[in-house]
Amino acid sequence: MTPFPRSDYAELDRYDPGRTSVDVDLSDNTNLWGPHPRALARIRAADGDDLSRYPELYADKLRNAVADRFGIRPECVTTGAGSDDVLDSAFRASSEQGAVVAYPAPTFSMASELALMNGMRPRPIVWSHALDTPELLLENQPSLVYVCRPNNPTGEAAPVKWIDKLVGLCEDSGTLVLIDEAYADFAGASLISTAVEVPNLLVTRTTSKAYGLAGLRCGYGVARPDVILEVDKSRGPYKVATLAADAAAAAIQDADGWMARSIDECLNNRHRLHEELQKRELDPLESQANFILFRAPSGSATDDARALRNQGVQLRPFKKIPSLGDSLRVTIGPWPLLERFLYVLDSHLSALNGMDSS
Ligand SMILES: *Cc1c(COP(=O)(O)O)cnc(C)c1O
Repeated sequence: MTPFPRSDYAELDRYDPGRTSVDVDLSDNTNLWGPHPRALARIRAADGDDLSRYPELYADKLRNAVADRFGIRPECVTTGAGSDDVLDSAFRASSEQGAVVAYPAPTFSMASELALMNGMRPRPIVWSHALDTPELLLENQPSLVYVCRPNNPTGEAAPVKWIDKLVGLCEDSGTLVLIDEAYADFAGASLISTAVEVPNLLVTRTTSKAYGLAGLRCGYGVARPDVILEVDKSRGPYKVATLAADAAAAAIQDADGWMARSIDECLNNRHRLHEELQKRELDPLESQANFILFRAPSGSATDDARALRNQGVQLRPFKKIPSLGDSLRVTIGPWPLLERFLYVLDSHLSALNGMDSS
């Protein structure tokens, strides 16, 4: 018998992205245009049964909505309370205790957390040009390879050829490939149609970002039915609340309406903000998502983030990003919010310059 608490949990803590309440929060990549109106309408039409009865075991209405949207079979869809929950179930389903989870780094911080939570060993491989060799990811015989595409926090999307090679290698070794498409709605490119064809490939998506429904906690995954079954075994029943599943389904059924328009505006603003950051020589990375990562002007991301937050604008700081160093990630929202950010940024930049010349 091993005593409580388990020793490998010593490396874990409660998740803390360091957010505080501010005027303009550009730190968490949620949709700053608000929630999908169809989802809100479904919540407003709630009745007693929505609360007093159990939800569907495996959220079939939501699975059907996803299947319709992508022209696939509902057996190819799993769901969860947020895509973090789908990822969690997939991590657990893929691996025995002590197995290796490999991923290109830097990436979504939950990748290593979920590995540790599930008794696995995280193996970050620094994302560089050498990574046109996906073999590197397989060096430690991982049971799972996680790739975020487009990647959080850099916004870059791994090239299709690279993914194809990785998927081929993993098929040979029996490794599950997990592609996290939390931001694919902004990129246009997706591996969903591949995932229903090839073995060992699971694609996860969320309604937290483009759909503006982070508070609902809904996500889904797409793969062949044999993969989905294994994920559902570790997921368990009743994971998605009735109102959340119904509201998410309503939003997904109308993905070409409100959401398409809000994505359009987001991409326009992304382009504009990229140019503004370039003008200020802050080396913004070319992003395929609803955020941009750029060089921290003082060299310390935490110092810069604190200075901006003191003026009411919250960004997410990152330490030591390869080729960029300390960096800041800004969520793209309606232009007036970004204008406020640029105003505060400029005042911070002149304060830094003043310090230089003194
Ligand atoms: C925000 C985010 C998620 C989390 O999505 P939820 O569905 O809200 O759990 C998953 N992956 C990445 C890369 C994210 O940035």
